[in-house]
Amino acid sequence: MEQRRKRGWTLSVDVGGIAIGGSRFVTIAGPCAVEDRRGLFAVARGVRRAGAAILRGGAFKPRTNPRSFQGLGKEGLILLRECRRRYGLPIVTEVMDIREIDLVAEYADMLQIGSRNMQNFPLLREIGRSGRPALLKRGMAATLEEFVGAAEYILAEGNRNLVLCERGIRTFETATRGTLDICAVPILKSRLRCPVIVDPSHAAGQRWLVPYLAHAAVAAGADGIIVEVHQDPAKALCDGPQALTLPGFRRMMATIRDMLPIVRKQPA
Ligand code: PEP
Ligand code: MN
Repeated sequence: MEQRRKRGWTLSVDVGGIAIGGSRFVTIAGPCAVEDRRGLFAVARGVRRAGAAILRGGAFKPRTNPRSFQGLGKEGLILLRECRRRYGLPIVTEVMDIREIDLVAEYADMLQIGSRNMQNFPLLREIGRSGRPALLKRGMAATLEEFVGAAEYILAEGNRNLVLCERGIRTFETATRGTLDICAVPILKSRLRCPVIVDPSHAAGQRWLVPYLAHAAVAAGADGIIVEVHQDPAKALCDGPQALTLPGFRRMMATIRDMLPIVRKQPA
């Protein structure tokens, strides 16, 4: 693996007018899942005020258990689009099924490929062909070489609008949901021209740890973060324990703003 970081080598990816991979550090924030209009709008308004540039929220959720909340599907996409109109935040949301790419692409500015689908090669190829901005999350048991291979499926179809996301991997450690592999940031950036962001939420699994991992992402030179925020985490239908509250998100963002000049980035 070539380890040298080539300065200024990252190609930035435009997501609804927000560049990921340029001189700005992009914060993507929102609930794990779109649950209802009131909640989504409250989170969107709050995270925008605190400095988020892009809104996240799952409409199609890959849940471990089939009896868990699976997301609102198309209704969730409609709410995300309304939210974009109201608050001017571009949208990233997951597409789990090759048959739903066109539907999700109609509503979203960026298509998320979740950890569980990192090696779903037909899905990767089709998203590659769509040419749409894509966010590829690292499989929870994938090596960096396998992650790069998955990214190349998308790139090989001519889609350069690809952002990679380190989200924690499964190790022997059980204190956290995943082990954040912070080395993934510089290593991936030395291998591909894609921007690299970090998901501190799914790595930490617990709210109080999330800011520490977000700060580590800034220090490691990540191009941004994707963070879960909920207006009332105790009532969240999905991933409540790791969701930041809005005040918690604001505090984290204040520290990130203080850190950015050190890594020569500006908030987006
Ligand atoms: C998510 O971002 O909501 C998600 C399901 O993440 P991952 O695919 O990384 O588990
Ligand atoms: Mn989640």
